[in-house]
Amino acid sequence: RTNQPRLPEHLKTSIPTGKNFSRIKQDLRGLGLHTVCEEARCPNIGTCWGGGGKDGEDGKRTATATIMLMGDTCTRGCRFCSVKTSRTPPPLDPHEPENTAEAIARWGLGYIVLTSVDRDDLADSGAAHFASTISKIKHKSPGILVEALTGDMNGVKKDIALVARSGLDVYAHNLETTERLTPSVRDRRAKYRQSLDVLEHAKAQGVRVTKTSLMLGVGEEEAELLQTLRDARNAGVDVVTFGQYMRPTKRHMKVERYVPPAEFDEWKRQAEAMGFLYVASGPLVRSSYKAGEFFIENVLR
Ligand code: SF4
Ligand code: SF4
Repeated sequence: RTNQPRLPEHLKTSIPTGKNFSRIKQDLRGLGLHTVCEEARCPNIGTCWGGGGKDGEDGKRTATATIMLMGDTCTRGCRFCSVKTSRTPPPLDPHEPENTAEAIARWGLGYIVLTSVDRDDLADSGAAHFASTISKIKHKSPGILVEALTGDMNGVKKDIALVARSGLDVYAHNLETTERLTPSVRDRRAKYRQSLDVLEHAKAQGVRVTKTSLMLGVGEEEAELLQTLRDARNAGVDVVTFGQYMRPTKRHMKVERYVPPAEFDEWKRQAEAMGFLYVASGPLVRSSYKAGEFFIENVLR
């Protein structure tokens, strides 16, 4: 029995190919690194890893990949997320910062997104590991732009600051949904206000761009989504993205609604009118969707 709405045509995508794609895939396997692109079976993998194919040399300069640090096991269990959960994940790999920086230098990408599982088992939520990875990447690939998509670090200001001051270009933390829906969508330790504070505190450290992402189709109402956008602007957030929630398995929360593309366009207009610097909005848009292409062209150069 399923009470899910049917999957509309606009959400079906093709299998990725291309030079960048196979090279990145090989390296990842060799170094034991994980990408969200692969783990979450992201539908944009061909476009992102290929850099949209716009840039003469195989799209390398604007190619984007999202690397997942600190393992594949999260201490939290959000109801939309397919990452596996344990209260005691394996210890951090001390070579991961170096290996990650090495792989990225080899690929020659223009933009990299680093994210991680949440590690509530670590005293600093993994902040030092995150920060050291960023500074090693910047050292080995001086021209690269780095976005860190972090958890809430349990709201601990010194941990947020450590990451924010590590040399990154974009600090991202996802609100995911409205205040009312937060307790039923995200892990119970994730708090809406705390997440706004994370973004505000990161911005206060002098970060150039802060960013957040929202999933549509989980039961949000228009007025509360508008309020969420206002809250994000008040916290100094520069960039917002909207995408359609897709249920990873039947054990995850159901999709309430497939939001039509025209509504995504309308949210883009609304958010731009509220003063966000950049808005990506569409059924297949994910937090890091074509981030390289946009940031390199428009925001950070
Ligand atoms: Fe990877 Fe993000 Fe692009 Fe998906 S949208 S392929 S997760 S970089
Ligand atoms: Fe998934 Fe939530 Fe863990 Fe992030 S914190 S990896 S969304 S379960």
